[in-house]
Amino acid sequence: MQEYFKKIYKGTKNNFYNLIKENIINQNKIFIVTANPETLMIAEKNQNLKVALLDDKTTIIADGIGIVKGSKILKCNIKETIPGVDLCSKLFEYCHELKKTIFLFGAKKEVVSKLVDVINSNYPNAIVCGYENGYVENKQAVFDKIIELKPDVVLVALGIPDQELLIYSNLDKFEKGIFIGVGGSFDVLSGSKRRAPKIFRKIHLEWLYRLLREPKRCKRFFSSNIKYIFKLKKEV
Ligand code: UDP
Repeated sequence: MQEYFKKIYKGTKNNFYNLIKENIINQNKIFIVTANPETLMIAEKNQNLKVALLDDKTTIIADGIGIVKGSKILKCNIKETIPGVDLCSKLFEYCHELKKTIFLFGAKKEVVSKLVDVINSNYPNAIVCGYENGYVENKQAVFDKIIELKPDVVLVALGIPDQELLIYSNLDKFEKGIFIGVGGSFDVLSGSKRRAPKIFRKIHLEWLYRLLREPKRCKRFFSSNIKYIFKLKKEV
């Protein structure tokens, strides 16, 4: 576990946002993984995901409070969470301010097209240069199109680990771009699913709200979080 934690971004949320903005301006290439305990537990079983996460080219941020708490156990002090949903909103804001291009890939057809409408009305200078739903059969063909378009920002919402593996396997074909696997963020940002109310977020119980709304997540959540705690304790 130490190997992941060594890599996870340790600065504040605002510092990370500034770093991303600089990278957009300088047309750099970055791949960001928004991690929670489940991400790390899946990587422990999926060698390809583990390689992607530990690659020097990959930046990992703490999407969930479980990662911040875990860092306290391992004494490597990650300051705060940087939720993927908030990062997406920041990116829309920067694309509006800097007139940059975005490609959206993932979620249901109606969800991704609703999100395009949201971006067009709330961030009118941001340019959505293309989008595709996440249920098309040939996902590589979508990436081939993205490679041609060379967007400044590419958000992929296919769920973990598919989104990370698809980005990682194509990364070398791009010269620039901010690439992020954003899980269920399109559902929230399009207004199709409600995000946890502020009070839940403030006391770091967004995960509980999600479990209450979608109880089918409970089994996956508890089994990976219990394994996570055991693994952490073993390393202290
Ligand atoms: N999804 C998709 N194609 C698929 C499977 C999932 O586009 O074949 C989308 C799904 O509609 C949702 C997102 O991927 O918008 C995954 O969301 P989830 O909340 O499950 O993300 P995770 O918990 O894995 O981060």
